[in-house]
Amino acid sequence: MKQIRTRFAPSPTGFLHVGSIHTALFDYLLAKQSGGQFILRSEDTDRARFVDAAENHIMDSLKALEINYDEGPDKAGPYGPYRQSERLKLYKVWAEKLVKSGRAYADPYTPEQVQEFRKQAENEQKPFLFRNHRPAKPPTWDGTQPLRFKSEPKKYTWQDAVMGQLSAGAEAIDDFIIMKSDGYPTYNFAHIVDDFEMKITHVLRGQEFIASTPNYLNLYEALEIDRPIFATMPPILAPAGNRKLSKRDGAQDVLEYLRDGYLPEALVNFLAKIGWNDGTEQEIYAMDELIKKFSLERIPRAGARFDDKKLLWLNGQWIKKLSVAELAKRCQDFWGEVGKEAKEAEQLEVLAVVQDRLKTLKDLPALSEYFFATPTLDLKMLENDKQLKKISRTEQVEMLEKTIAKLETTDWEIAKIQSSLNELLEITDSKPMILFSLIRYCLTWAAFSPALPETMALLGKNQTISRLKTAASFRA
Ligand code: GLU
Repeated sequence: MKQIRTRFAPSPTGFLHVGSIHTALFDYLLAKQSGGQFILRSEDTDRARFVDAAENHIMDSLKALEINYDEGPDKAGPYGPYRQSERLKLYKVWAEKLVKSGRAYADPYTPEQVQEFRKQAENEQKPFLFRNHRPAKPPTWDGTQPLRFKSEPKKYTWQDAVMGQLSAGAEAIDDFIIMKSDGYPTYNFAHIVDDFEMKITHVLRGQEFIASTPNYLNLYEALEIDRPIFATMPPILAPAGNRKLSKRDGAQDVLEYLRDGYLPEALVNFLAKIGWNDGTEQEIYAMDELIKKFSLERIPRAGARFDDKKLLWLNGQWIKKLSVAELAKRCQDFWGEVGKEAKEAEQLEVLAVVQDRLKTLKDLPALSEYFFATPTLDLKMLENDKQLKKISRTEQVEMLEKTIAKLETTDWEIAKIQSSLNELLEITDSKPMILFSLIRYCLTWAAFSPALPETMALLGKNQTISRLKTAASFRA
């Protein structure tokens, strides 16, 4: 397989949207599959929209998910620098080449004049094309006027690795600005120069670039360079699938997800499954397997849904797969007030019991604090429980007293605790939904807990009985 070189080329103008990191992951998988390289290029030419912290945020996000770039702003490589603002001389050389060959000219108009042309077209109900207003004698370009590409309008048909064959008529082609008056290139020019200089073989990007592709094709020809393979990513849709995903759908940036207790493995798995599948029902994929199985051919053209419930489920699955020791490492910053002070051995015991119940690492305090400290009794929980509110407080107390008596003669092993609990269903003539919920509340005063026998075994006999006694003796 020929080595593939891909690039992720974000503009550091804000935080990294999940849609962008999705493209970065696909770039990475494609390059690594062929033994090639994945490059990070900072497209920081829009100085008005530049955000200082954004570049670090992007790099941190990629590193956190182990979407490791081989070359980038902080990783030297043969075609650097990898920040466009540090490549200005290079763009100038290419721009001058176009001036020389008669394929670029200095734009002499003021913004007001251009606005006037636009209005004129509007009045005539024609699409505005700058090329209809080319100056007869453009001034010599001195680097301070905008420089425009002199297009050669024609029809194009091109191949997109995802979308198949695309085409557009000559009306899609116009004279666009390639160098701005501040000396910076536009995206439309810079990315073409850079992709060529950096030997990029495949360009993956969103659908918003399809409309400009004929212009790019025209520019490739003028520069006499080959173009890379284009692959257009499907848009990511909101969970309901009816519109493009936005912030209000709860989609966060990657670092926020990590702070919220999602595992990098789960995020990578989740992102990979948005708009890609290998034709099977398989859901769980690790990075290694994704690298082997990924293919552009299996990316759908239509939008791909962002299903946050699926992400939560995947996260739970990935948490279950970790060894307890590894889980402990990941949980370091997630313990509750009391849990974080506990001895490591105790923490490990608790993790072994709660692991299956964790959907995110953030669930840890709610699922674990009651193991380390006696929880505060909260009878409201019993009153609010759908099942438990059906029985009176007196009946509850009776059940608890019978439970205490039975447990006092129980050997403290999970299997024995389990059979005592089963016997108690008969002794109290009650359903699991009632009896077990009651016991669970009285031990934990929490909305969730691991399975009852495991919880009780870990609490120990004395602590279990003492908590049940406290609950039984409290008469509202
Ligand atoms: N800087 C462009 C953006 O962030 C990159 C698009 C591309 O991948 O070529 O939208």
